[in-house]
Amino acid sequence: MQTMQVRGDFPILTKTIYGKYPLVYLDNAATTQKPRSVVEAMTEEYYNVNANVHRGVHFLSQQATELHEGSRETVRKFLNARSSSEIVFTRGTTESINLVAQCFSDAFMKEGDEVIVSEMEHHSNIVSWQLQQQRKGIKLRVIPITDDGLLRLDEYEKLFNEHTRIVSVTHVSNVLGTINPVKEIIRIAHEHGVPVLIDGAQSTPHMPVDVQELDCDFFAFSGHKIYGPTGIGVLYGKEDLLDKLPPYMGGGEMIKNVSFERTTFNELPFKFEAGTPDYVATTGLAKALDYVSAIGMDKIEAHERDLTQYAMQRMNEIEGMHIFGPKDIQQHDAVISFLVAQEGSFIHHLDMGTLLDRLGIAVRTGHHCAEPLMRRLGIEGTCRASFALYNTREEVDALVAGINRVRQMF
Ligand code: PLP
Repeated sequence: MQTMQVRGDFPILTKTIYGKYPLVYLDNAATTQKPRSVVEAMTEEYYNVNANVHRGVHFLSQQATELHEGSRETVRKFLNARSSSEIVFTRGTTESINLVAQCFSDAFMKEGDEVIVSEMEHHSNIVSWQLQQQRKGIKLRVIPITDDGLLRLDEYEKLFNEHTRIVSVTHVSNVLGTINPVKEIIRIAHEHGVPVLIDGAQSTPHMPVDVQELDCDFFAFSGHKIYGPTGIGVLYGKEDLLDKLPPYMGGGEMIKNVSFERTTFNELPFKFEAGTPDYVATTGLAKALDYVSAIGMDKIEAHERDLTQYAMQRMNEIEGMHIFGPKDIQQHDAVISFLVAQEGSFIHHLDMGTLLDRLGIAVRTGHHCAEPLMRRLGIEGTCRASFALYNTREEVDALVAGINRVRQMF
C-alpha cells in the first residue's frame, strides 16, 4: 500500500496544530478522517441532485433514490450479504444495537430471559440491553476476560441455559484492540439455537468482513469510523429474523397503508427506516466503501497490522510503559491503549493526552465508553492510539518521542 499516496486524499492531514506540522492523527477508533471523494460526492449531491427519496415522480427524486438504493447495494456487496433487504440504514452502530435490543426483545424475550454480552463491550452494547432489562425484566450475562484481554470461551459456554435468547458481542475491542474469535462464538451460540449480534464498529474499518462466512445473525457498523460521514450506519440482519421483528419507529417510509383503525408495514428493509433517511450520507458511505475496496481491505489490514506490531515494539522500549490487551499481534487490532508508570504510579491519562496534543499528536484519553472494562482492569482510563490506513511508521516514531518527552516533564 502506498501510504504517502493515500495521505494526499485526506486534506486535513496537512494541518498545523500548535505550530506542529503535520498533525499526527491517532484517534481513528473514535472517528476517521474523510477522503476527498467522500466529501466531494456529498457536496455534488447537495448541489445537483438533492430531492427527497422514494416517493417522488420527478427527475431529481428518482435520481436521489437511485443513488440511495445504489449505496445500499454497495453496502450489501461490502458485507457480502445475500440481499439488499438485509441492509438497514441507521444513524450508526449505537442505533443499530438499540434497534436489535428493542425489537428482538419485544419479539422474542420475556421476563427472566437472558442476553449474553462480554466484559469488554462498549456502553452501546451494554446500556441498550439494560434499557430492555428495565422495560421487560430481561437479564444480562457477562463473558469474563483474561488479564491479557481475551474472552474466556470456557466461561462463555457455561453461560448458556434455557433462558438464553441472544448473544451480543464486539468483534474488536475499542480499548484493548482484542480481535475476538467471533466465528467460534457464533458457532457455539448456534449449537444452542441462539442468534448472535456482532458489533462491528471497530472491525469493519480494519479487516475484510463477510457476514455469510461469519454466519452472524445481526452485524452493526458506523460510517464515520470507516472514512464515511457521521450520522450514518448500518444494521445487517438475516432476512428471516428481520422479518419477524416489529418496527423500531413509526412514521413515513415504514408503512404500506395507514388508517386510524389499522396500519400495515412496509417490506424490508424500509420497515425499519421511518422518516426521511440521510440519503446524502448514504452516498458518502458508499463512496467511503468504494475507496477502501479500491485499495483492498486485505492490504489495509496488512498495513495496519505491520504498523501495530511496530508501534507495540517501539512503545514497549519506553520505560514504565504498560500496554493493555493481547500481547500476540495476531489477536491485537490497530488500537493500543497504554499508561506509563513513573515513580510508582501511572502518569494520568489526561495529562499524557493533553501534553501529547501540544506536541501535535492526537490520541484519545478516558474510559472509552467502557467503564465496566476499566473496573475490570482496575484503572480509571487509558491513553489510546489507534491507526488508520493513512498512518505511518514516522507517526509512530513521533508518538514514541512524544511519550518520552512527556515522561521527562514528570
Ligand atoms: N461499539 C464500539 C466497539 C465502538 O468503538 C463504538 C464507538 O466508539 C460504538 C459501538 C458506537 O459507535 P457510534 O458512536 O458510531 O454509534
